[in-house]
Amino acid sequence: MALERDERSEVDLKDPVSRPLKAYAFDPTQGKALGNYMTVSVRYLPLLRAGPADRYLAVIDYDATNKCYYRPVDLDDPAVLIRSGLDPAETDPQFHQQMVYAVASETIRRFELALGRSIEWSFSRRRRGDPSESGSLRIFPHAMQEANAYYSRDLRALLFGYFPASTTDSGANLPGQMVFTCLSHDIIAHETTHALVDSQRDFFMEPTSPDAPAFHEAFADLVALFQHFSFKEALLAMIQRTGGAIYQSEVAPERQPAMAGGFIQAELSSANPLVQLARQFGEAMGMRKALRAALGTPPNSRMLETVWEPHARGAILVAAVFDAFFTIYVRRTQDLMRIARLGGSTLYDLHPDLSNRLASEAVKTAEHFLNICIRALDYCPPVDIRFGDFLRAMITADSDLVPDDPYGYRIAIIDAFRSRGIVPEGAASFSEESLRWAPPEIFDGTSLPTCKGLEFDVFKHDPDLQKEAEKKNGGVLHDYAVANQEALGLSAEEGMKIQARTFHEVHRVRPDGEVLFDFVAELTQHREVPADPQNPDAGTFTFRGGTTLVIDRAGEVRVAIQKRVGAVADDSKNVRLKQQRAYLNDRISSVGMAAYVTDSRLAARLANATIDFKLVHRGY
Ligand SMILES: [Zn+2]
Repeated sequence: MALERDERSEVDLKDPVSRPLKAYAFDPTQGKALGNYMTVSVRYLPLLRAGPADRYLAVIDYDATNKCYYRPVDLDDPAVLIRSGLDPAETDPQFHQQMVYAVASETIRRFELALGRSIEWSFSRRRRGDPSESGSLRIFPHAMQEANAYYSRDLRALLFGYFPASTTDSGANLPGQMVFTCLSHDIIAHETTHALVDSQRDFFMEPTSPDAPAFHEAFADLVALFQHFSFKEALLAMIQRTGGAIYQSEVAPERQPAMAGGFIQAELSSANPLVQLARQFGEAMGMRKALRAALGTPPNSRMLETVWEPHARGAILVAAVFDAFFTIYVRRTQDLMRIARLGGSTLYDLHPDLSNRLASEAVKTAEHFLNICIRALDYCPPVDIRFGDFLRAMITADSDLVPDDPYGYRIAIIDAFRSRGIVPEGAASFSEESLRWAPPEIFDGTSLPTCKGLEFDVFKHDPDLQKEAEKKNGGVLHDYAVANQEALGLSAEEGMKIQARTFHEVHRVRPDGEVLFDFVAELTQHREVPADPQNPDAGTFTFRGGTTLVIDRAGEVRVAIQKRVGAVADDSKNVRLKQQRAYLNDRISSVGMAAYVTDSRLAARLANATIDFKLVHRGY
């Protein structure tokens, strides 16, 4: 048979799957060591223009301090394409643009993979159907000369600062050398995660308790840290140096020194970059260590009672999750280590084949844990997130998807959280069964009716049809909530409107191949309450409550996660209201909410405050 030739397209090339781009695995101070030069396989998306800009991200290189634009990189330029992106260079702004784009894109991809759906930024949800670039998150790699980087919902942007390193104690930096936060893999992943979490819920960024800002910091650090375990070369190097014990914060020297202290670099122990964050930034600030070496601290169940600063408090949550992660890694690799010992291997002489196997177990376990954390977002209450809620969300998310748990992931998570004093409110005990969120309880013997009329499989490719279906779903949910408000934990009080917000479809494939198909919706309520009941001049603030519903395809409510707003008459007994009020009035500690919201004037801050990452991140 002769092959016929199509005149119009001689070669039918489909769009590529990925776009290889070079980046630092950690930051420039790590040089070429430890696989620090890496190539990120960024998901391929057509670029809208140089910058780069695609439908998620738009890199805009405007420097507000020097009032100038840097020329945008064109990643589709053949000269750039042929070498898989520009080579890492500390002083090349075009490489900086490429690196923020690559790492932010990869972070988004990991979220979408875990959630099983596309994300939409919080600011663009309200402007759906707008095909222009205004729906994408803007990234300013050289936003300002300042030792800071942050996500701003108002500016719909990630802003990265740059600053001269300390002149007296600059670690691996030259004294006074310019440090770019946009070249830190960790800082980019951290900031992108703030925007991603904000994309999932409308009221998550309200500072309702010391746990709220700390949760955001912890979650962003977790995502950044788990990404370290996908850097294969760095991981292999650390496995070799630690004999597989990759959780150690200090790594033994390459060669045992003959005298204490050692004479050459190879005889000195060094820090393990896998379990540290943003090393260059920390050193340049004169802190002599990575930004937050959260790990490697022994569990202390009383620490949450004394630590209020968001990063320090968040580090307790990070340490709990990593404790569980490393426990599972050790469990999954015990057999390999036993076999190695049988073959006469010593701890510091691992066979390369064994190192490879240990690395793949570490990569797999890190992916599992990152997925559990991200999926848990769907199982969080709509407002006032506490660490204990997140524990319950993780347990429910994982047992929904992976009913069999042969390695004991969930027990490891529960043990780690308990040892750090993270107590779930409303659960009878620390057992897996009581930590799982449950359907609403109905005491009069009847059962909750199914929610009928929801449209699944919304028409994603037709914005108009999608808008229509979502509007209809909003109406159906609202009516359902009104008809069953008490059972769903919602207040039936006069004037307490119920709002049905953010619906997400959840498609997830279980390990046995079965597809889990759910629908997550937030129902919220709010009312104005006095900031100080004894002092009418102190103003009011918005007190929110609500319920997250997980509904299956048949309309059955599988899970209802409640934060009650309560009745006005019961305000004196409303524990959550009391706690929030104390936090707002800075009574819990000197680090109350006032330090972290945009406007510290009482009236303004109590009205409509959201956590301001610009203030939270200053100097961290
Ligand atoms: Zn942060």
